[in-house]
Amino acid sequence: MRNKKKELHSVSRSYPWPSIIRLSRYIKVPYKKVVLTRKNILRRDAYKCAYCGRSDLPLTIDHIIPKARGGSDSWDNLVCACTFCNNKKGDRTPEEANIDLITQPFKPSHIMFIKNVVGRLDENWKPYLYMS
Ligand SMILES: [Zn+2]
Repeated sequence: MRNKKKELHSVSRSYPWPSIIRLSRYIKVPYKKVVLTRKNILRRDAYKCAYCGRSDLPLTIDHIIPKARGGSDSWDNLVCACTFCNNKKGDRTPEEANIDLITQPFKPSHIMFIKNVVGRLDENWKPYLYMS
């Protein structure tokens, strides 16, 4: 583990670097909503096209229901799409373009992005992140 040799030092003692800290008092942290941005949609979809799963082509953001047809700018209507699928779909619904979504869009929680912020997800954290 990366932090194995790290230590915390007081004046007279040293402690192993913790991966979990228990708070003895509850501290209210305001709930952070994940902002709807192009970058966050790409992160949510793991930089893979929602129609074909490819990640080796330039990626764009696609409105599942086209904006011109009343589709909204929302987590449920925006997905990551490769340029090939986006061009194939054009200004049509997936049904009209005969193209299927292989992943369903969803509103991500900020917990999902912790890994992106800290660069890893410690196995020991999972029970605290509602992931086990
Ligand atoms: Zn694609």
